[in-house]
Parts: sequence; C-alpha cells; structure tokens
Amino acid sequence: MIERFDLLVIGGGSGGLAHAQRAAEYGVNAAVVEYAPLGGTCVNVGCVPKKVMWYAAHHAHQIHHAADYGYELSVGGHDWNALKSGRDSYVSRLNGIYSNNLDKRGVTHIKGAARFIDAHTVAVDDTEYQAERIVIASGGRPVVPDIPGAELGITSDGFFELKERPERVLIVGSGYIAVELAGIFNGLGSKTNVVVRKDSVLRDFDKMLSSELMDAMRNSGIVLDTGVIPQSLRKTGAGLLLHAADGREFGPYDTVVWAIGRAPNTESLDVGKASVSLDKRGFVPTDELQQTNVENIYALGDVTGRAALTPVAIAAGRRLADRLYGGMDGRHLDYRLIPTVVFSHPTIGTVGMTEEEARAEYGDNIKVYSTGFTPMYYALGEDKQRSAMKLITTGSDERVVGCHVFGEGADEMMQGFAVAMRMGATKKDFDDTVAIHPTSAEEVVTMR
Ligand SMILES: Cc1cc2nc3c(=O)[nH]c(=O)nc-3n(C[C@H](O)[C@H](O)[C@H](O)COP(=O)(O)OP(=O)(O)OC[C@H]3O[C@@H](n4cnc5c(N)ncnc54)[C@H](O)[C@@H]3O)c2cc1C
Repeated sequence: MIERFDLLVIGGGSGGLAHAQRAAEYGVNAAVVEYAPLGGTCVNVGCVPKKVMWYAAHHAHQIHHAADYGYELSVGGHDWNALKSGRDSYVSRLNGIYSNNLDKRGVTHIKGAARFIDAHTVAVDDTEYQAERIVIASGGRPVVPDIPGAELGITSDGFFELKERPERVLIVGSGYIAVELAGIFNGLGSKTNVVVRKDSVLRDFDKMLSSELMDAMRNSGIVLDTGVIPQSLRKTGAGLLLHAADGREFGPYDTVVWAIGRAPNTESLDVGKASVSLDKRGFVPTDELQQTNVENIYALGDVTGRAALTPVAIAAGRRLADRLYGGMDGRHLDYRLIPTVVFSHPTIGTVGMTEEEARAEYGDNIKVYSTGFTPMYYALGEDKQRSAMKLITTGSDERVVGCHVFGEGADEMMQGFAVAMRMGATKKDFDDTVAIHPTSAEEVVTMR
C-alpha cells in the first residue's frame, strides 16, 4: 500500500524541518524523510557543536587575559573528552526536542533515505510514499580531495568525533569552516598549521577582513602557508605528511582536516526519475520562489547552492510554506543583505557588499569609511588584539551597502546593523545615531 501525504520533505535539517513544521501549522498533512539524527548539519556537525567548541577556545583566551584584571589563575589543563561528552549530550537533547516538535505538530518522521520514483512518489527502503508536493532539503556534505592518501585525513564531520585533542594539526582550506576550526584547535593548545591554495583565507569576504584575520591568526601562533596545492597525504612513523604540487612537504601531523568545500546531497536521490534538473556541480537550481524546473517540486537550503547558512534555509522553508499554504501570495526569501558571522578568534561580522563588489556595481560612485583600533578590553595588558571596521556607501545620500567588522564582539554586533541596512540606512543615519560608550560597536557609528 502506498502512503499518501499532502507534503513530503526530503531531509530533516534546518530547512526541511522549518518548512514541514510551518506547513503543518497551516493544517497540511506533512512527512519528513531523514535517515540521520534530526536537526541536520547545523545541529549535529555544524553551527551548534562548532559554537560550543568556539566557546571553549574563547575561554582559553579569556583565561590568558585574566591576569591583566588581577586574577591569579592556575589552569590544570583542558579535558577535551569531557567537553565532547557535554557537547554530545546537548546535541542529543536538541535531537529529542526536534523529534517532539514534529510530534506536536503531527508531522510524520519517516526514517530512512529517500529516492525519487516519479514527480509525486518517493521510496524509502521498500516503501513508497506519494505527495502532492515534494520539497528537496537534503543539504550537503564535506568534500574530500581526490588525491592519494586523502582517506588518512578527516573532515569537519570527523572533527566532531575526535575524542582527544591532537597535538599537531593541519587544516587544508581557506573558507570560514577552515579558519574556525583552526582557531578552535589553536585556542585549545594544538600546534596548528593552515594551508591555502591561493594567497589568502576568506577570499569571498572583503579584503580588509581577510587580511586582518590572517595577521591575527599568525600573531596567535597559527602557521599559515599560502600557494599550497595538495598532491598526496602519507602516513609515516612520525605522523602524517602532506606533499604539495611545488615539492614542498608539510608535517608531520597527528590530524589533517580537509575543509575544502561542500557538495550537495543529490547523488542518491535519483532526481532524474522526477525530471528534476541539477546544475553541473549537482546543486538543485530554483527560481526565487524555491521552485525547481518541476511544478510540484521545490528545493531549499544548502542543496540549492545559495548562501549556505542555517537561518537562510529556515527562512526559505518558512516563507515557502507561508506562500503555498498560508495565503501569503508571492512571499519568498530575499537573498540580498544576508548578515553572517565567522567564528574565528576574534570574530568577523559582515553584511552586504565587499568593496570589490560595490566597485563592480557602482563604479566610482562609492565612498568607503574605515577604522582600526585596539578595544578597551586589552588596555591593561601587553597582548593586544586589533579590531577593524569598514562601511561602504553609495550615491549622493551615501546609502550603506556594506558593513564589515573584525574584532572582539563582531558576532553580536551585526544583527542590528543588518536591520538598519535592510531599511535603507544612510551614513547620515549611522552618524545621527548616538553611540553606546564604551563599546567597540560605537565605532560603527562614529567613522569619519
Ligand atoms: C562545520 C560547520 C559549521 C557551520 N556553522 C554555521 C554557522 O555558524 N552558522 C550558520 O548559519 N550555518 C553554519 N553552517 C551551515 C549550516 O549547517 C547549513 O547551512 C544548514 O545546516 C543547511 O540546512 P539544510 O536544511 O539545507 O541542510 P542540512 O542541515 O544539511 O540537512 C539536510 C538533511 O538531509 C538529510 N538527507 C540527505 N539526503 C537524504 C535522503 N536521500 N533522504 C533523507 N534524508 C536525507 C541529511 O541527513 C541531513 O540531515 C555550518 C556548517 C558546517 C559544516
């Protein structure tokens, strides 16, 4: 017998759960297919456990500065495994909360891996399910390079399985996950090396952020090597050795982490059976309403290859449900001005265009404001960490189209500025806003 639903969602991660739950609130008979613990990447091997680890490294920084504030501390080491078990219990609690949330809304959880049979039918193991609408929210997974010995390394998924802190670590990659993991390892005491293919980290971000972070990483003891194209990874008695295309050899290391990008989970979906098109990298293209090339099939979140962030997947999922079932015609996610944070040490907060993007769009019709300073937090000690900010404006009214903050507190600073920019704030609005003193955030409204 084929079970029937109004809505079938493939993937119980941030986007899939948000969509199914919002749809169920509108009275839709919905089911979510998920083979892994509920919550997806963010909850299990992404934002949540990562932020716990970031907090742990942040504690190390604060302990380091405590003496400046009169504390006499002696630290008896750090228990990585105790941290891991606390973190794992927290994640399990969240998995339970997600399951209860589905139950409360009457959403069916089908455990297993979904594959298409046709545009209205999905199979999970030997059972077939039909639905009027199907949403693909199957997310992505870390990429491992196709080089000899790659299997000797781990990915961000493996990072969360580590039971003890490796003494010597190599992170291969330049994106936000690479720099975040590097900051965590380094903060918790591992000898940390990062290698990048080109000349910098965070290449998609404003150059100011990338260069400030590279300086900060190096000042904190991370060894950062550029122009490294991995050729092979080899295990020796001393540890893992990475060979680069130019003949350089890096290592030995206890752990090598590939953080070179993420691929969409579409290979096993058999989308061809439903005539859903994929782009050449395997992502599911959609229009601005999250609609695929097939009328009753939608896609959202990381699998679409756009702004791979949890709140983006959630917002796209909820808005799609509002539009399809909540009577909100035309409601959809606007992918412009998405704020984001990099949980490096220190953090980065950013929203809007980089200076390069603004120049490409507006030519010389932009004005850039920037500042750099040492936050007051470091005033009493010798070990100081810089902060830097940049505002990019355009037009005679100087509308703010880019806001980039590097430094202590940037993570908690950006949300409000993102609201202001969505409302079309100009430099004058920033100038007319009274500063909050003494904070780092006040520098955003006092730049000249
Ligand atoms: C290390 C790391 C740190 C991150 N940090 C942040 C952060 O700080 N802030 C932030 O906003 N974002 C962060 N992200 C990104 C964030 O996790 C993703 O953008 C988000 O999880 C995307 O949600 P999604 O619903 O599209 O996919 P996912 O959350 O990946 O969910 C997809 C689900 O689909 C399931 N699935 C796949 N194929 C099938 C199938 N055939 N049948 C059934 N189920 C299937 C998978 O098991 C998975 O549970 C981070 C990611 C990583 C890897």
